[in-house]
Amino acid sequence: MGLEIKDYKVLKALMQHTYHPKLIALAMWCSVRHSQFMITSAHRDDKDSLHYYRRALDLRCRWWNIKDISKIVDDLNNHWKYDPKRPLMKCAAYHDKTHIHLKVHDRTVCNEKGGKP
Ligand SMILES: [Zn+2]
Repeated sequence: MGLEIKDYKVLKALMQHTYHPKLIALAMWCSVRHSQFMITSAHRDDKDSLHYYRRALDLRCRWWNIKDISKIVDDLNNHWKYDPKRPLMKCAAYHDKTHIHLKVHDRTVCNEKGGKP
């Protein structure tokens, strides 16, 4: 168990690109706190997606159930603020009933204490 990478395409995307430092920090934080997940998508060649700009990652875990996913998404969003100037924007969202989409902005901040600001 631990971190997994979905396939060679995702591995290649992770190795070939430089990611936003806040995304790296968020992914590292997530790996310490929720140690079992798989990175299912990193850089994508789609200019309409934050994945293109290396500000997004997708995660999933075969051991997660819907309750776990909600708790993880809430935990991430309670600790990480996507953009304090736009509080409705979130760092983590459950997408397509398949994965958690993580995203960051230049103004993303981590509140280590968690909870609502
Ligand atoms: Zn995504």
